[in-house]
Amino acid sequence: MADIIPLRFGVSQAYLICDQNNILLDTGSDTDKAAYQKAFEKAKVNPRDISLVVISHGHSDHFAGLGAIKELTGAPVLCHRLAAQALATGKNPKFVPRNKLGEDMLKLIEGTVPVMDKTVDADILVDKEFDLNAFGVAGKVLHTPGHSHCSLSLLLDGGYVFVGDMVVPSPFDGKLGLAFLATNESELYDSLRTLLSFNQIFYGGHGGPYTRDEVQRLLELDLTKGNLGEEE
Ligand SMILES: [Zn+2]
Repeated sequence: MADIIPLRFGVSQAYLICDQNNILLDTGSDTDKAAYQKAFEKAKVNPRDISLVVISHGHSDHFAGLGAIKELTGAPVLCHRLAAQALATGKNPKFVPRNKLGEDMLKLIEGTVPVMDKTVDADILVDKEFDLNAFGVAGKVLHTPGHSHCSLSLLLDGGYVFVGDMVVPSPFDGKLGLAFLATNESELYDSLRTLLSFNQIFYGGHGGPYTRDEVQRLLELDLTKGNLGEEE
């Protein structure tokens, strides 16, 4: 079983996954190189020993500091092929609200979307699936579209999954729900069903971990309550 070390950078959560080798998932919304160095020191991981940087999707609160991370680690960067443009230009694709919460959220973040420190060309572009064993981690990366066209989930052997923004707390009251931004809602549901079918613990891009039952319940509520995932 790999060690999972959550690292909070700004509003987002990155993860160090330490198995035979170390993988970093996302860079958070900060771009402060010194903060990264400090976090790696605290985790007792030499950044040069990170074999791969995986970007969960092309929203800048998950990859803003990628330039600094690339300098510190020297590691190749992996993302979905549809996220490559965001990393190479530092520009977010259009955010698509899925419900009222999404609309309110977009108003909240207007003008404050994290700006990338330095654009980066990804080294490995994933289409459907990518085996991580070659990078010393027992697991894989899977294309799980819905929140964005380019969303990847990282799955570790043993039933641990990193779902990016598919499960996310409300920035207003902290209440957990399914993604309030989505390019395709039915794909979001399908991706979650796929992950629920063989994973037990869910780590999010802004919080967690959550249990399988918790996520299953959120999905059921969302399907019956018209997108809000809220109880009356
Ligand atoms: Zn996102």
